[in-house]
Amino acid sequence: MSLEENVLGRIETLKPNLVRLTQKLIREKSVNPPGNEVGVARVLETELSKIGMKVALHHSGPNRVNVEAVLLGFRRHPRFLFNGHTDVVPEGDVSKWTVDPFGGVVKGDLLYGRGSSDMKGALASIATALRGITEAGVKLNGDVIFHAVADEEVGAVYGTKYMIAKGLARADMGIVAESSVFGGKIAIRQAARGNCWIRVKTFGKAAHASDPTHGVNAILKMSTLLLALSRLKLQAKPHKILPPPTISAGTVIKGGTKTNIIPEYCEAELDVRILPGMSKEQVVRKVTQTIDLMNKRDPQFSAKAEVFSYAPAVEIPETSPVVLAASKATEKVAGYRPKLRAGHGTNDSVYLVRDCGIPVIPGFGPGNDLSNAHGTDENVNITDLVKFAKIYALTTMYSLGFEAEP
Ligand SMILES: [Zn+2]
Repeated sequence: MSLEENVLGRIETLKPNLVRLTQKLIREKSVNPPGNEVGVARVLETELSKIGMKVALHHSGPNRVNVEAVLLGFRRHPRFLFNGHTDVVPEGDVSKWTVDPFGGVVKGDLLYGRGSSDMKGALASIATALRGITEAGVKLNGDVIFHAVADEEVGAVYGTKYMIAKGLARADMGIVAESSVFGGKIAIRQAARGNCWIRVKTFGKAAHASDPTHGVNAILKMSTLLLALSRLKLQAKPHKILPPPTISAGTVIKGGTKTNIIPEYCEAELDVRILPGMSKEQVVRKVTQTIDLMNKRDPQFSAKAEVFSYAPAVEIPETSPVVLAASKATEKVAGYRPKLRAGHGTNDSVYLVRDCGIPVIPGFGPGNDLSNAHGTDENVNITDLVKFAKIYALTTMYSLGFEAEP
């Protein structure tokens, strides 16, 4: 039997452990906000230490912690990085769930719970992949670093951004293990759109609402502005796999104090998604042009726009060694070449690619488009968890090179 087959066989026998580990991770509530990743970090620390990895916990704030685990190879380089987040979004209205959101219930091939698909299942698959490699007696030619990070769902300040600031995110390639199964087929998310969140403010004049002619209604001005912004077309070269840029105008709106007062102030938010090659400045220019035009037509119109959150789009070459290795591993395990697909959102990969220059796959992991991540009854296919444990193992073996343990 080849070393690869040894590893795959080993992982197959670890399936019950993989399911139990995912359940344990789900049962450690790590809802963000407010954010508390201590329980999940402890479970991973125990699990990864058991297989001989060197584990360190990096505390980034009260109750905020990041796990760094290293599987030593024959040499220190090349280095392969796995990044996955330990926080989850809130469970929402519990009465809409048919199972306990933090119970880790299994029904047939589905494992339910908040974070099952986004992305505690992936964390368990990574841990199982590394355990399979070790137990099969395989030694890699370089190190594998596993970062199980806090705070992805809110802004990464306590998580990936913290690990980068501490100089811990050093690697030659890697995977951000966000879900990438579409219609039951494993794909590679080789690019992800960026986001540019903008706050617009309109200024009016307060007056008694019984005589509106004396005032300027900032909310009505905002209405016309939002309608105009929602019709904006952002220029971008069409992308091979990503959807075109989008503007959602007015996802949040605030204004007015009392029924009988003409409101003098209103603010609203826009969610703009951008493609590689687009900049924050380009988006701001478009919005400002709209404001200027409206001001020309209506001298009482006064508005301002500011960016309050920005992450550029991310993309790694199709011929990047990690993409090729992941593709070869998928073919070996699942029997087909994975397609390159688009990411729907932004994730921690942007910081690793942009700020550290590490070619990471922006999304490659269990969890499919029917998993209802962030929704009720979130779930993950157990079959996919096992497949990804195998695929992760082979991807690191193909990327780093490997030999039998002496
Ligand atoms: Zn996620």
